[in-house]
Amino acid sequence: MTPSDASPWNSPGTVRQLGKMLFDHNPTLKINPSVIPSIVGWGLRFLANSTYERHKANMISNIRIARLSLEALRSIRQTAHLNYDQTTRGTMRVFPRGGRMTEFVQMCREMKQWGVQFEVLDQNQILEKEPCLGAVIDRYVGAVFFPDDESGDAHKFTNEIARLATELGVQLLLNTNILKIVNGSSSRISHLSTSRGDVSADVYVLSLGSYSPILARPLGISLPIIPVKGYSVTVALNGWKGGPTRPVMDDGYHAMMVPMGDRLRMGGRAEFAGYDTRVDEEEGWRVLDDIMKILPVLRSHIDANAVLNWSGLRAMTPGGPPLVGPTSYANLLLNTGHGPLGWTMACGSAKLISDLITHRQV
Ligand SMILES: Cc1cc2nc3c(=O)[nH]c(=O)nc-3n(C[C@H](O)[C@H](O)[C@H](O)COP(=O)(O)OP(=O)(O)OC[C@H]3O[C@@H](n4cnc5c(N)ncnc54)[C@H](O)[C@@H]3O)c2cc1C
Repeated sequence: MTPSDASPWNSPGTVRQLGKMLFDHNPTLKINPSVIPSIVGWGLRFLANSTYERHKANMISNIRIARLSLEALRSIRQTAHLNYDQTTRGTMRVFPRGGRMTEFVQMCREMKQWGVQFEVLDQNQILEKEPCLGAVIDRYVGAVFFPDDESGDAHKFTNEIARLATELGVQLLLNTNILKIVNGSSSRISHLSTSRGDVSADVYVLSLGSYSPILARPLGISLPIIPVKGYSVTVALNGWKGGPTRPVMDDGYHAMMVPMGDRLRMGGRAEFAGYDTRVDEEEGWRVLDDIMKILPVLRSHIDANAVLNWSGLRAMTPGGPPLVGPTSYANLLLNTGHGPLGWTMACGSAKLISDLITHRQV
């Protein structure tokens, strides 16, 4: 949960690097040629949002929802016990020599005006926080530490929230496929047609991630969202305590390692591959390899045959901020398009949506 990551992917500097990222021998960004025709329009809007002014405005929107989210999460934690392998020790982004640390610190100064706290660390301070980086410390020119960031297991968190909601009387219809959102008139939704029959409600919130545009289109709502695939790899640490004590991101490899109880999760990569969610094990190995370069000792503590590979889709809008709010249908709201920050923004988006539902007559 990283408000520090609020900068959308189309910062002017990143857009200049896109070509390099695509043609790198170990690319962190990939585009499947077959999806190019379906993403051209989105891509042009992505580029249009990469000016300094647009990018900054989008970053500020993201920070606002992300900070509201942390506030909402902390208030839930005050009244309910949640166990999701959380850490509340901040996150650290380490910068290799010749990287973009100066430019990044400048952006952090701008983010600080909107409440994102940060500290610049030298090599000694990096090692004080994360001794596990000792073997590779000469790779780094410095780091930025974000004390307010948090982390955890998003799947466990979701189950915990489902438990709390159920205890409060919420009924979850799991394994139920929504086939169609049916509009009774041009201004109201009448019901959902689902694999278990029709379901009707006073208010509907469209929150289907990357699949949202597919169900919105027949209603005449065009959502500028495309799926961008990412990978995560999780390994059991079997009691080993020599790894990072908080999430550490290597800005050169674009790879993140996150401690989660007795496991370490690593994530990265961005692939434009449509709705293909197949797990490419090779890609998972590449994520793991990048982390081994930062934490070589990990190799002797994990069982390479017991690695959990996962892939998922980020529902990306061209600007970065999610689509949270009303539609032209009085009883249909949007809560989707959270891209790479869906968990970071989850509680804040939910708060905005629930305020909209309870404070206005929808
Ligand atoms: C590798 C990777 C790493 C990430 N790391 C982070 C991170 O560190 N921090 C962070 O904040 N975010 C992260 N994200 C982003 C985050 O996972 C997403 O933004 C978030 O999952 C979005 O949540 P969502 O509920 O909107 O959509 P989703 O999680 O995509 O959920 C949508 C749901 O709708 C269901 N659905 C779709 N169509 C239908 C239908 N017709 N009927 C019924 N159900 C349907 C799907 O099955 C799915 O369960 C990461 C994403 C990836 C891929």
